[in-house]
Amino acid sequence: MNKISGRSIPDGLPNKMVIGGERVEAARGGRFATLDPATGVAFAEVPAGGPEDVDRAVAAAKKALKGPWFKTAPAERGRILTRTAALIRRDKEKLARIETLDCGKPLRESLGDIETAAGYFEYYAGIADKLQGDTIPLGPDFISFTLHEPVGVTAHIIPWNYPLVTTARGIAPALAAGNTAVVKPAEQTPLTAILLADLLAEAGLPAGVYNVVTGFGPDAGAPLTQHPDVAHVTFTGSVPTGKAVMKAAADHVASVTLELGGKSPVVVLADADLDAAVEGTLKAIYTNAGQVCSAGSRLVVERRLHNAMMERLVARAEKLVLGHGLDDAPLGPLVSDEQLKRVGDFVAEAKKRGVTVATGGKPASVAGLEGGYFFAPTIFDNVKPTDEVAQEEIFGPVLTVQVVDTPEEAVAIGNSTRYGLVAGIYTADIGKALRFARDIDAGQVFINQYFAGGVSTPFGGVKNSGFGREKGLAALTSYFRVKCVTAKI
Ligand code: ADP
Repeated sequence: MNKISGRSIPDGLPNKMVIGGERVEAARGGRFATLDPATGVAFAEVPAGGPEDVDRAVAAAKKALKGPWFKTAPAERGRILTRTAALIRRDKEKLARIETLDCGKPLRESLGDIETAAGYFEYYAGIADKLQGDTIPLGPDFISFTLHEPVGVTAHIIPWNYPLVTTARGIAPALAAGNTAVVKPAEQTPLTAILLADLLAEAGLPAGVYNVVTGFGPDAGAPLTQHPDVAHVTFTGSVPTGKAVMKAAADHVASVTLELGGKSPVVVLADADLDAAVEGTLKAIYTNAGQVCSAGSRLVVERRLHNAMMERLVARAEKLVLGHGLDDAPLGPLVSDEQLKRVGDFVAEAKKRGVTVATGGKPASVAGLEGGYFFAPTIFDNVKPTDEVAQEEIFGPVLTVQVVDTPEEAVAIGNSTRYGLVAGIYTADIGKALRFARDIDAGQVFINQYFAGGVSTPFGGVKNSGFGREKGLAALTSYFRVKCVTAKI
């Protein structure tokens, strides 16, 4: 077993792409390394895929649509997904260690991710043979019914913050509905998407149904979204890249699901349970070091609880120990040097503008992990709604605090960014909570527990956070098309 800074790396790291059931190198032959974010040390290498590889993968996925997969009964598709869930659970330790090495998050979070990934396969396994159409009453001289057909080849562009979970979130409903898929994992975190190919094959998925092209966005992601044989693109990532994906898909009239991040508020009203609000706010911003699309990165607190919340949040943030994800540290590193710089720049600029730093505000150095990309848990207090750190997605362990005097003002502040992914509220008054849910611009509202819900609760955004829904039954609408057949009899 290999080691990295004294910590063991699992054997059998994947090092090839997966096209048509074969493990292959890039057509142009290039490779690139993936780094452990806690040390900055390269520990694996994968092919640098390009347009030729995308062509091969899409061709394999297109061919597979008419191969054994076409004849696989929906109930059998469901059984394949059920077996996949079991295999993910069988390999959870290995998958979680690899996920942590690739993206840095603490091991308990990776283990949670792996369980969630298994949960997606289990959830959508159950629907595979229940995607049934309607009959339409046109009177005695006609018979009219709808068929739910797979849309075809689906492309999945995956971000680096939740590599296997995001892959499973798109792949499980796509396969349940009978589609084939080409996955382009993020260049920072390519490994678990490849390992999933082995598990799907072991579960009985025919070759070519699930393909993985590793590589960078412009070389592998862009050609995939531009490919005329791709019928649907499921994208999770940044707003600028999402816009590029949508434009590319428009050229060949492919549908898209865009999940583009947010600047989500955690509203704490004066009557809230303080302990629950503190726990929820910490979880909302420090899970995966704040690198979460649905992170609660703005605390919007009613004035009466402001001081009490600040006192507790700062004390707790200052106790968070940074360390290696494999040691299950309370807080892990950011994913990359680039991300560390991005977060550092936002924070440095805010400090220059005179925004109050309640705690943190700088990169952190961790003994024995000097090459790692660590940033101190940071809280900015009394932030103006128009300030950059209250408006832009920072994607790091940086919380901004905004103080309000009424629930109505909390809604106005909550809605004051260009994003609208999720929103949380803590209050003892269910009427206030439900009025907030009615008035807030968000695809998902959490009442008295941040990140409430799971694989079955629809997820997606409004405004610049994107459109389309993933998770739950709502996700399936992206993966089947309705054909209406009407006969005069
Ligand atoms: P980040 O800047 O945080 O890496 P991106 O939105 O650029 O976020 O990346 C999310 C995913 O999109 C990654 O898999 C990346 O490789 C891919 N990607 C980047 N640029 C493009 C593009 N032009 N077309 C398609 N995919 C892309």
